[in-house]
Amino acid sequence: MISASEVQSNLDVLIVGAGVAGLSLATALGREGFKIVVIDGAPRPERPSEARNMADWDLRVSALTPASISFLTKLGAWQNIPANRTGRYHRMQVWDAQGTGSIGFDAEEIQAPFLGHIVENRLTLQALLDCVDHCSGVEVMWGQGLESMIHTNAGWKIECSSGQRYCAPLTVGADGARSRVRELIAMPTRQWSYHQNAIVGTVALQSGHLNTCWQVFLDSGPLALLPLADPEKVAIVWSLDEAEHDHIAALPDHAFLHALNRALGQDAPVVAGIGPRASFPLQQVHAVDYIDQGLVLVADAAHSIHPLAGQGINLGLSDVRVLASELASGKAHGLLVSDPVLLKRYQRQRKAENLAMMAAMEAFKRCFGSQNPLAVLARNVGFNVVDQQSWMKRWFMEQALS
Ligand SMILES: Cc1cc2nc3c(=O)[nH]c(=O)nc-3n(C[C@H](O)[C@H](O)[C@H](O)COP(=O)(O)OP(=O)(O)OC[C@H]3O[C@@H](n4cnc5c(N)ncnc54)[C@H](O)[C@@H]3O)c2cc1C
Repeated sequence: MISASEVQSNLDVLIVGAGVAGLSLATALGREGFKIVVIDGAPRPERPSEARNMADWDLRVSALTPASISFLTKLGAWQNIPANRTGRYHRMQVWDAQGTGSIGFDAEEIQAPFLGHIVENRLTLQALLDCVDHCSGVEVMWGQGLESMIHTNAGWKIECSSGQRYCAPLTVGADGARSRVRELIAMPTRQWSYHQNAIVGTVALQSGHLNTCWQVFLDSGPLALLPLADPEKVAIVWSLDEAEHDHIAALPDHAFLHALNRALGQDAPVVAGIGPRASFPLQQVHAVDYIDQGLVLVADAAHSIHPLAGQGINLGLSDVRVLASELASGKAHGLLVSDPVLLKRYQRQRKAENLAMMAAMEAFKRCFGSQNPLAVLARNVGFNVVDQQSWMKRWFMEQALS
């Protein structure tokens, strides 16, 4: 252990942020023999309880695609998540509240065993923590919020709230949508608020979720029901304009239940029970560059997107997979971990895909936010056309799963 006045500098990579992105990168790089420290301002999360009452489910869940699951399996993390704690879904039903357009996706149509798994974030985090705990080159330092950064010849010198200091040839910002790393070195971003908040929570359905994701496009934004491991329970993600959000979020349980069923309409399962809820502001942020001298941003620190397609952490895990692979191949060829060639290769590969996904989400958001009768007609016709064309549906599904 070094004292707070010393700088720990015998590292290859310093990762700021021990979320899903930071811990998966630490695991991937630790396995390649890199020496890693991860710092996080929060205390170490407690091991999730096994209880299954309404209040025991994590309010933040992610729809992990088969590609993300395959990466987590390679890291040895997926195996640490009990199979009876993930909601494996085979079908997805999407419809427009203002018309008759609807589209259904079924894993069978593309001969896939499933479309994805809904997983509580804290289970994914715990599974990754179990991996890093067994990775000899990785140390996670909790309660060490990033305070300041100075660039030196040896890399970025980082000072934490605890007074502890670190310096590594490569620093990775994996510190989420409000990245302090990005802010401290003034990396430019393109960002805008949707002036919306998402209400998330756990609810019980009257007749079960049938391993199906349900998503209705309301004029205020999408409302999704994501099937949990319990056959009756789903996680909701309900995006609402700010004024409407403030009203609905403040409703007592019985009135919220009524408002939720009214918003879902007649084509959705009936919600019969309500658990705790929380709200998150929704914004789209994209760093103009993901890299600087000896520094790289990954996942939400580089790009945070509207949750309407549930792609946030899937894009983040793809960033991690590509960065880890570039750094490992650089090491094999004798390159420095901070070699700009490696960082540029990572940026080039990831920016294109992330921008395409963000543009698609933005187009969706604008199209479904419009009450113009022509836009309503166009999207309903579009839904029905896609639904009737099996090749188009297959194409959409394959894009969403890769
Ligand atoms: C309402 C909502 C619903 C969502 N639904 C989905 C979904 O269905 N599917 C999906 O894929 N994604 C979804 N997302 C997005 C997903 O949650 C994020 O993409 C994902 O959590 C990002 O992971 P991350 O590791 O980059 O960041 P985070 O999970 O935000 O982790 C960042 C870490 O950095 C730490 N940190 C922050 N600041 C500092 C600092 N100064 N010093 C040290 N440490 C710091 C934090 O403590 C935290 O541990 C949703 C998001 C929201 C808001």
